[in-house]
Amino acid sequence: MIILHLMTSAARKYILNNKRAAELVLLLFFLFLISACSNPGQRQQSTLNGSTMGTIWSVKFITSATSHLTESQVNATVNADLQRIDQLLSTYLDDSELSRFNRNRSAKWIAVSKDFVEVMAAASKISQLTNGAFDVTVAPVVNLWGFGSDGSITEVPDEDAINQALHKIGYQKIEVDIANQRLRKLIPDISVDLSAIAKGYAVDQVALSLEKLGIMEYLVEVGGELRANGHNLADVAWKVGVEVPTPQLRQVYQAIQLENQSVATSGDYRNYFEIAGQRFAHTIDPVTARPVKHTLASVTVVAATTIQADGWATAFMVLGVEKGFAIAEQQQLAVLFISRTADSFTDRATTAFIRR
Ligand code: FAD
Repeated sequence: MIILHLMTSAARKYILNNKRAAELVLLLFFLFLISACSNPGQRQQSTLNGSTMGTIWSVKFITSATSHLTESQVNATVNADLQRIDQLLSTYLDDSELSRFNRNRSAKWIAVSKDFVEVMAAASKISQLTNGAFDVTVAPVVNLWGFGSDGSITEVPDEDAINQALHKIGYQKIEVDIANQRLRKLIPDISVDLSAIAKGYAVDQVALSLEKLGIMEYLVEVGGELRANGHNLADVAWKVGVEVPTPQLRQVYQAIQLENQSVATSGDYRNYFEIAGQRFAHTIDPVTARPVKHTLASVTVVAATTIQADGWATAFMVLGVEKGFAIAEQQQLAVLFISRTADSFTDRATTAFIRR
């Protein structure tokens, strides 16, 4: 009996010796039971979190008070998805499918998993629409500049090393055959880094699994890429904050509401190093094989899926505001560009972002 267990022993003794009080407690207990059953719509929020892919994840979800789902069941489902995708698409695991693909120098078609080919197809589409600014074959350049699984660097790579790496990249040098779930390298040295888009894919996969469990109201985050569905416990749209793009602060620059949408932010203020007062961040321009140099500090993209938001956010960080804004408007994407000024920030939002 829940109510009796919740009481102190003195109260328990009084009630057991006093018939009238016992009837009253019994009545209260049944009223409690009826209210819980008569209001199955009573909603409760759970929060789970953990680490994955060199970052953290969190899932907030709403269930009814009478749901039989346990937090450990949901936790196991989320972890299974994240571990599966890590094992497929990580460049930090030697035995991942992606690492094995990168080492494979065959010019033949290579059969790959559904996840891998879907992420490559999405990446290739954004590469085409941005004229190669987004290019997942930048792996050797990402490593050369110390932002990949080979670890960080203490001095700027020399011209020769940069030119050598430049000849090993180009999204057109990998063919993607999504129907037959296979990829083909047109040069043996080509290799892939999916850090700019695979976390977004992972969020979408977790969201799908939650919905298969019957959870339709949730907020899923992996390393800053988020997907929101339904409403939060207060029964309003989920709200997330776009942060001020400075390494020191954790401050909200702008709050945004998400209605069955995804959001991702890319920036130059978390993953960077400085040498001789010059800042080098992890967004690479595939044309120069060097970290991009412009005043854009962060880009936030709201899209129908998290893989799209994630990939486009990096693409716009590469393109900069002028070129990025033009493509974002053409593609009718909801994008917020935040640029550095001499002493603060300025922003520019696309029509679709403002209309949201
Ligand atoms: P985003 O802007 O989302 O991505 C920037 C990244 O994209 C760069 O770091 C670079 O890798 C790549 N990139 C740069 N320029 C371009 C370009 N022009 N086109 C396309 N891509 C570009 N990190 C760890 O430290 N340890 C781990 O164990 C680890 N495991 C991972 C496993 C997986 C499956 C994935 C996807 C990533 C993993 N990472 C790991 C990397 C880490 O999670 C982040 O992905 C990374 O820090 C960049 O994410 P972001 O959101 O900060 O930046």
